[in-house]
Formats: sequence, structure tokens, C-alpha cells
Amino acid sequence: MTIYNFSAGPAVLPKEVLQQAQAEMLDWHGSGMSVMEMSHRGKEYMGIQAQAEADLRELMGIPANYKVLFLQGGASQQFAMVPMNLLRGKNSADYLNTGEWSKKAISEAKKFGKVNVVADSADKNFSYVPDFATWKCDANAAYLHITPNETIGGVEFDWLPNCGDVPLVADMSSNILSRKIDVSKVGLIYAGAQKNIGPAGLTIVIVREDLIGQVVAGTPTMLDYKTHAENDSMYNTPPTFGIYVAGLVFQMLKRNGGIAAMEANNITKANLLYAAIDSSNGFYNCPVAKTNRSRMNVPFTLKDANLDGDFVKQADARGLLQLKGHRSVGGMRASIYNAMPLAGVQALVAFMAEFAKKNG
Ligand SMILES: *Cc1c(COP(=O)(O)O)cnc(C)c1O
Repeated sequence: MTIYNFSAGPAVLPKEVLQQAQAEMLDWHGSGMSVMEMSHRGKEYMGIQAQAEADLRELMGIPANYKVLFLQGGASQQFAMVPMNLLRGKNSADYLNTGEWSKKAISEAKKFGKVNVVADSADKNFSYVPDFATWKCDANAAYLHITPNETIGGVEFDWLPNCGDVPLVADMSSNILSRKIDVSKVGLIYAGAQKNIGPAGLTIVIVREDLIGQVVAGTPTMLDYKTHAENDSMYNTPPTFGIYVAGLVFQMLKRNGGIAAMEANNITKANLLYAAIDSSNGFYNCPVAKTNRSRMNVPFTLKDANLDGDFVKQADARGLLQLKGHRSVGGMRASIYNAMPLAGVQALVAFMAEFAKKNG
């Protein structure tokens, strides 16, 4: 039976990448050892990391005046590192609140300064992105923080706000590499790797150089972007194996048409799944506003929540795994990141139609 893993994260990885990692596991390129066993200061490993960075820069079109940092601590650590590094003596930062991850970023930032919530979508249970015209931005804010894809709520931006000179900060943990974005319009992007990049344990930060170097007093060395920028992410031991696998993912993306090709695939997959939900005569329902529906994380409920258990059990039996929704929202959630093949979504919609027919 073919298994399709719809987990929100850690999530499915491309099979060809796992196979390559397997083939190279015991002897990387004739070195006689696994990447896990290499010194991070040795020329083999340093080559692996430099290649990963170059490939990511090429894939995303990252301008030369941006640093790419390979860190640890997850996106959650960035909730603190962003204000510690980017407040730069200013009084407050702007945050948009579109759901669970925005809220966590906001509560952490409040430990370091004033937070101005420019808008939120609480009135409709965080099911949409508020119109930019309604945002109450502060021209003196240190930065504006957004969550371009709310992994739990399934709410995604298809645009970037322009707030003039105020740098934009984007938590792209669950949609980085899934669609084209103009990096030059963003001051800092961060992402935990375990959704759309590679194994858990690696966090990628892409930051404009002029934003580095003005941390709040008392910031630990390890939480200062400057430490990592000045040391090519090798101030201490980086998460070497995670960076290696992420690098294999970047090479796979380059071989397969880059982000443009991924984006086209992602649109096809998402359209198929949303169409299955919308054409079910109400048997399935997606609460997210149509224009803000995520291409990566598709939450949906069943008309009769008493059927949830059966749905998950029967899907599991078919090899359609990890469809149970986040504990805070219930229902189902299908995460269909880059590495989810179209065949996985086709198998899911076929099962959904059958289940609806039997139980409708
Ligand atoms: C998963 C996720 C996080 C948390 O990531 P960790 O790496 O577990 O800290 C933060 N923001 C978003 C948007 C996420 O999807």
C-alpha cells in the first residue's frame, strides 16, 4: 500500500531525497563516513553547507545584501530573537494577528517592548486576512510582523503588505519554497525546517544585513544574529545533518523546475482538494475565506462531527495518514506541502467522495 503522510510537521519529505540520504548514509562521496560524523570545520562538511546556502539563494533569488543563517531553536525561538535583534532602540513593533502562530509571536514580543496589533481577524475566528486598508500601522514601528501562512488555521496571504520604511518580518515556516516571493520586499524571513524544507532541528533565517547588530542589552551571544552572520552559522556546531538534508531538498527543487514549478503543482493540488470540499453539498466544510485559503494546510470539518473518528480510521486504513485536525480546532487538516505528490491528493479526494456517499 502506498502511504501518504498529511502531517502538518514534521512532514513528508521527497522520496528521492530520502533515498539519496540513504545511499550516502555510511559513506558520503567516498569520505568513508556519514555526514553526521564529520567535523563541521572540515572541508567536506563546509562544502555541503556552502552549497546548501548557494542553492537556497538561487532558488529564492535572495539578494546579496541578505544573510542566510542556519540556526536551531525552531521558529518559536525566532519569536524572541526577532524583537531582541530588531527593536533597535525603538519603542514598539507592529504585529498582525491572523491566528495561533501570530498570537505566540505577539506574546513573546511583549516581553521586550510594546506591541501594536495592527489588525486581527478574531471577529471571524481567524478565518481570513484583514484587508490592508484596515491595518493601523505605526510609521515609527521597529518592524511589522506577519504570518504569511497560519499552519493551524489554514489562512494564507497571496500578497505582501508595503509599509514603507518599516521592515517587514515574515514567519514563513509553513509556506517557504512553496510560492514565489520577492525577498527584497521583506526585512527578515524565518522558518522552521520541518514543514517544507527538511528535518526538524534546523531553522532558517534570511535577514537584511542592515538590520543586524543592534541587539537589546543583555542579549545572549547565541541569540544575536550578528554572532551567526559573522561566523557563517558556525559559531557553534550547526545542525549538520539537517542542513545536509535541506541541501538535498534544494538540489531536488532545482532539478525539478525550482519554486515556479512547485508553485504550479501546489496550485493544482490545492484546487483539487478545495473543489472536493466545496462540491460535497455541505458534507465537508472549509471555514477559511476563499481568497485566503492556504495552499499548504487545508482544514476542513465534517457536517456531523460524530463521523470524525470513522473518517480518520478509514483514511488510515487506506494509507492516508495524519489527517486529524489540530487539537485546538478539531475536524481534519490535510497538509499538502511541496513533497506531497499530486497522487496523494487524488487518493484523498477519492476517499472523501466515497466516505461522503456512504455517510451522507
Ligand atoms: C510550526 C510553526 C511554528 C513553530 O515552529 P517550531 O519550529 O516548532 O518552533 C511557528 N510558526 C509557524 C507558522 C509554524 O507553522
